[in-house]
Amino acid sequence: MSDRVTTPIAQRLARPELLDMTPYQSARRIGGTGDIWLNANESPFSDSLPAYNRYPEFQPTELINNYARYAKVNLDQLLASRGADEAIELLIRTFCVPGQDSITICTPTYGMYAISAATCNVAVNTVPLTAEWQLDSQLISKLNGSKLLFICNPNNPTGSTLTPHQIEPIVRALEDECIVVVDEAYIEFSPELTMASLIEKYDNLVILRTLSKAFALAGLRCGFMLANRTIIDLAKKVIAPYPIAAPVGEIASQSLTINGVMKMTCRVAQLNKLAAQFSNAVSKLSGVKAVYSSGTNFVLVRFNDDRWFSLLGDAGIVVRNQSRVKTLNNCLRFSIGSSTEMARLISQLTTISIAIK
Ligand SMILES: *Cc1c(COP(=O)(O)O)cnc(C)c1O
Repeated sequence: MSDRVTTPIAQRLARPELLDMTPYQSARRIGGTGDIWLNANESPFSDSLPAYNRYPEFQPTELINNYARYAKVNLDQLLASRGADEAIELLIRTFCVPGQDSITICTPTYGMYAISAATCNVAVNTVPLTAEWQLDSQLISKLNGSKLLFICNPNNPTGSTLTPHQIEPIVRALEDECIVVVDEAYIEFSPELTMASLIEKYDNLVILRTLSKAFALAGLRCGFMLANRTIIDLAKKVIAPYPIAAPVGEIASQSLTINGVMKMTCRVAQLNKLAAQFSNAVSKLSGVKAVYSSGTNFVLVRFNDDRWFSLLGDAGIVVRNQSRVKTLNNCLRFSIGSSTEMARLISQLTTISIAIK
């Protein structure tokens, strides 16, 4: 049999130097049994309760257990990282040889794919989304040999969504040549779109998740990579020795208990409702050219001119200006805030709409 058939896709695409590399054997990874621990140059003293004088677990057991239960994946199909942002960089460092390989992104999309690639001297191949924010129908033939294809679903900053039905054929077609990374940072706002269960079926599929959005823990810096074991094991060679700080692991684990997930679901329902109300209200204002439908906790709006951003700023309302992106001229991205915040936002937008008519 040829090498193509016997070697898992992840090992064929990974940077060759990683294959035979042994991950750094941190004291915690080597482990041991005993009641006197003098193996990690830690301090025996602690001023805090709980004590933080010991290094944390490489992958906190409770955190991994809880997220695996939530995401319905196996324990060995999961890697916790310092936000999804770190997972993006890990994937690039795992698969792309600097100065040689490339990633493909479908723009407009999340900016960190290109930034992370640039910091690793990895080229970025851009295949724009269609005017309706759909994938280019010729996407597969436009990859130019990229090692990684990033698909953000739901997409930031457009809020647009793709169905698993649209993405799966691409994953299947690329089974032998490319890792498809589906960034599900906003998936809790459109849970029916998740492709997490498909990591069982496709060895070239990676899902990215985060606690920063629906779980309301952006300050914590905790994200996850979901993939088959071969990819997870490769990424474990690249990630820092103790990526999850002990307090982060504790707080994150709490947020992922049955009760924590229930609270998250309630917040999501509330935000989805506020998003619908906001979209509806804004679409009635003169000067608004388009309100894009969103599967996320933000709404992208296109205005008739470029004054709205600064006028909102004058009123103390800070939103994200997308005008620098060519296809998002005069577009602002509104994160959905509390009902009080949204009421003030809508009132201010109404005032501006009347004033600049
Ligand atoms: C916010 C965001 C991230 C980063 O998530 P962190 O876990 O906070 O690093 C990744 N991808 C997309 C699409 C995002 O919007």
